[in-house]
Amino acid sequence: MPELLSKFSLLGGRLAIDFANLPSLAASGSSNGLSWEELIGFLHATRIVSSERGEELLALTESDPQSAFELLGRAERLRDSLRVSFDALAKKQRIRREAVEPINEILRVTEGHDELVESARSWRIEYIARESSLDWLLAAVARSAAELVTEGEATRVRLCANPACTLFFYDNSRTHRRRWCSMSLCGNRHKVAAFARRHAARKRSA
Ligand SMILES: [Zn+2]
Repeated sequence: MPELLSKFSLLGGRLAIDFANLPSLAASGSSNGLSWEELIGFLHATRIVSSERGEELLALTESDPQSAFELLGRAERLRDSLRVSFDALAKKQRIRREAVEPINEILRVTEGHDELVESARSWRIEYIARESSLDWLLAAVARSAAELVTEGEATRVRLCANPACTLFFYDNSRTHRRRWCSMSLCGNRHKVAAFARRHAARKRSA
């Protein structure tokens, strides 16, 4: 039985942002390509599919490699489109029509509706697709992306302030001044570097 990847750093604050940040550092290596295991692991980690469905999907590379290959291709195109769109959004630049086309492609083929679903002690909105094609797996991501794109200049989509980091996040902080994808990944590293610089400067001037 194939096993579902479970270590995802979902720090984006929005489904589409976490998807844009794939492949997750926590889940896999350094390659920029998206693997089937990672895609399905992400869909499971974000509760788009159940464990059962996730395991079925993992086996698809054996039972129906063509469908798996096609979905993975679409997922990668969507991911790249989100990166370009969010990059423009974070920099308050215009988002080009071509950039959002892959989002529209998914929206077009995945008609469906939202439904309230009870989970533990709270309610959440779950997307119910009308068709059963594999594309519906990306529908919730595309929907989340579309909502972010319409935020325009007022958006709180941000790119991490560490120039070596390429992660996006949604600034939900009260002051709207969050700078880092996460304190542990980039924030602390920056603080340590700043401290070392100040310390070195003090030493020189002493
Ligand atoms: Zn970062």
